[in-house]
Amino acid sequence: MHELAVCQALVAQSIDIAQQHAALGVAVIRLHIGPLSGVEPALLQSAFPLAAAGTLAAAAQLVITPQPVRVRCKTCGADSEATPNRLLCGVCGDYHTQLVSGDEMLLVNLELIT
Ligand SMILES: [Zn+2]
Repeated sequence: MHELAVCQALVAQSIDIAQQHAALGVAVIRLHIGPLSGVEPALLQSAFPLAAAGTLAAAAQLVITPQPVRVRCKTCGADSEATPNRLLCGVCGDYHTQLVSGDEMLLVNLELIT
């Protein structure tokens, strides 16, 4: 189960940060997830309690903000939103685009219990 491994890494990272700040626990974990990250937010939510059980993050709330897919066009230079399975320029329709965002899974911030 891929999402459990992702959650375990996330929990480990959160606990490291909590320990660096001598926190008693983690209250909220905020994530940004793009549709091309390969991580399914709903599965991550259901795997999280398993990964966090018995850790400083056991009572943490996981808040996931989905991110849009954005591409930069190599033909006209525009940045635009695209759909995950059609990375076309939203301005001129060209397919010579470069992914700007949408494949990320970022730990944005933590609220710690101190
Ligand atoms: Zn374009």
